[in-house]
Amino acid sequence: MSQAQINATLAARNILTRLHDVMAARTNAQAKLNQVVDIIGDSLNSEVCSIYLLREGVLELFATRGLNQEAVHVTKLALGQGLTGTIAKNVETLNLAEATAHPDFQYRPETGEEKFHSFAGVPIVRMERAVGVLCIQHVEPRRYLEVEIEAMQTVAMVLSELIANAGLVDAQGASDGGAELTHSQREIGFPLVAGLASGKAVFHQPRITIEHVVAEDVEAERQRVYSAFIKMREQIDKMASQAEFGTGGEHDEVLETYKMFAYDEGWSRRINEAIDSGLTAEAAIERVQQRTRMRMRQIDDPLLADRMHDLEDLSNRLLRIVSGQIGTAAQMGLRQDTILIARNLGPAELLEYDRRRLKGVILEEGSLTAHVTIVARAMGIPVMGRMRNILHQVRQDDHLLIDTNENSVLIRPAPQVIEAFEAKFVRSREKQAAYAALRDVEPRTKDGTRIDVLINAGLRDDIAHLAVTGADGVGLFRTEFQFLVSATLPQRERQLRLYRDVLDAAGEKPVVFRTVDIGGDKSLPYLREDGPGEENPAMGWRAVRVALERDGLLKVQARALIEAAAGKTLNVMFPMIAEPWEFDAARQVFEDQLNFLKGRKKILPDRIRYGAMLEVPALAETLDLLGPKIDFLSIGTNDLTQFLLAADRAHPKLAQRYDWISPAILRFIRRVVKSVEPYDIDLTVCGEMGGRQLEALALLAVGIRRLSITPAAVGPIKAMVRSIDLKAASSRMEEMLAHPPANMRETLQDWAMDQGVELG
Ligand code: PEP
Ligand code: MG
Repeated sequence: MSQAQINATLAARNILTRLHDVMAARTNAQAKLNQVVDIIGDSLNSEVCSIYLLREGVLELFATRGLNQEAVHVTKLALGQGLTGTIAKNVETLNLAEATAHPDFQYRPETGEEKFHSFAGVPIVRMERAVGVLCIQHVEPRRYLEVEIEAMQTVAMVLSELIANAGLVDAQGASDGGAELTHSQREIGFPLVAGLASGKAVFHQPRITIEHVVAEDVEAERQRVYSAFIKMREQIDKMASQAEFGTGGEHDEVLETYKMFAYDEGWSRRINEAIDSGLTAEAAIERVQQRTRMRMRQIDDPLLADRMHDLEDLSNRLLRIVSGQIGTAAQMGLRQDTILIARNLGPAELLEYDRRRLKGVILEEGSLTAHVTIVARAMGIPVMGRMRNILHQVRQDDHLLIDTNENSVLIRPAPQVIEAFEAKFVRSREKQAAYAALRDVEPRTKDGTRIDVLINAGLRDDIAHLAVTGADGVGLFRTEFQFLVSATLPQRERQLRLYRDVLDAAGEKPVVFRTVDIGGDKSLPYLREDGPGEENPAMGWRAVRVALERDGLLKVQARALIEAAAGKTLNVMFPMIAEPWEFDAARQVFEDQLNFLKGRKKILPDRIRYGAMLEVPALAETLDLLGPKIDFLSIGTNDLTQFLLAADRAHPKLAQRYDWISPAILRFIRRVVKSVEPYDIDLTVCGEMGGRQLEALALLAVGIRRLSITPAAVGPIKAMVRSIDLKAASSRMEEMLAHPPANMRETLQDWAMDQGVELG
């Protein structure tokens, strides 16, 4: 440490000790502030020290040493006005040798500040927003030392506690941290699950409230941070060692960065220095984070912004550990209609929430086919993704409205906006009612082709959608969902019960059970292999690859499924088949179990129908070999698309990169349709693509006649099917695929509108 640093640290410590006494004294708040400006001015040897606080959305001079006392409670500045207003608005520090040279400078004659040239101001921050400004001034033009600024920033933290405790700013301002966060706001995102939702904001990982800023015992605080670092490093190492399936958003690259930060000596040193200056462990972590945030804001580099995000995450993790405020909002329970806010979520994390109270989800990241999105879609919960800054714009319990039609989230909406939204809700319910009325109507095109419309499911309760929607059956039952929501590997008995319940609930309607597809973004903590983590979990050890290697897992599932389907037809489908031998091997596991149960005189299924998923493009090359062996084939467009286009389905930056209505994808699917024509097999599309009206139209136009989709899409898809002339759609599609227009989506959409196709 340099001498200047030592001096500044000592000064800050000296200030903090004295402030501690001021805060403990039984004087009124104004008297305390007057003492504070004296102490700071004294210790930093400044000619002026002033405190501005935000009251009713305006910065007001509350205390000063050095400026005219008549200006106290008289000088007022709007956010963004003058140097002080700029500091508060941008939550940034200013350090100026010549204040008047700054474009935002505004002269206030009542203060008598004309003789002071140099100026340094730091925001007083609470919940990441400025609630005031602390500034010092000197007659001599000079730039302040970095260490002096840091001492001011540390003091500003203490002031923020003093201000909050003394109720010095209006309740609104104190709790939300500034006028900006009391205003209505509209933010644009990327709709992941369509719908309207209204509820109060709840953070998946609640923000930490820092109760005490000034340390009683520096050594004890140092020890607390030390232990927290050890614990956090253990957590990160554990996450890295479990990364083979990846977890929502926390993939390898992020983990590497986490590790780098977690072990960064500079970071822990800075926190320790902040503790040395007299802060508690929590305040020191936050203090260092604030400083980093301010520095990063000055560098306009998207890559750095991403890293900053990671560091924020890690810093919050450290804060949670040190403060003992560890749980997620799910563990605390939802008390009201809620819109959940998270950076990203895993499907299991989402399922932990109370379905009755969870009305919507906002993710900073997210993509259309990530499993958390699929689960939310199945639960009928609207999701808005790619809202990078939402965590900074919303307070806990703010009223939020999600409107995916407008790609927007309304934050703290005004009453008239809520009214308009309610009217939309009513119209949307009417539309839903119109779709629901199609329950008993067959999905038949205008020219008479019957389309099979089935649902995708994964949980026991999902089967109820069969009756509600009038769908033809369950085209995809994702059996891994029960594995995801369970803390341990589900035993055979439990699996058997689930499958039996599902078949009973489905009655006469068919259910296609897909054997476990774990891996990719479906991580199972209790099913891991030792060894290095995976670079590309979606293309790695997952689905049938895991099932064939860990054949104990598949055997148990086969037994449970066969027993559950006693006296009925069992439809089994294997995921991620890349080559026909994988299908043969998986089928053999079932046949062996069937023989075993036969030997035990168990009642067997009347019939087992075997199918494969076409998700790996390579399988399309061997359909002549596979075709004769299978009863059905289901195209999983979620995975197929990511592999065809080499575009990670869960990568937030690629979420808008590709379009399902593109020549490559549609030509590929048309080719699969033609390849299986010689065989007597059902061909279904069961990816998310089939649940969107325009995409489904394109699929029908290339020859698909069977769709398995999210239950909420059954009504809209039936309506679309009933509005098309399939022959006309097919010939238009043939023309488009022969000579693809520049924008296929738009061209198809225009054509469909001309033809009066129902598109929602
Ligand atoms: C698919 O990949 O399209 C599919 C339906 O399977 P999942 O989304 O479960 O990977
Ligand atoms: Mg898949």
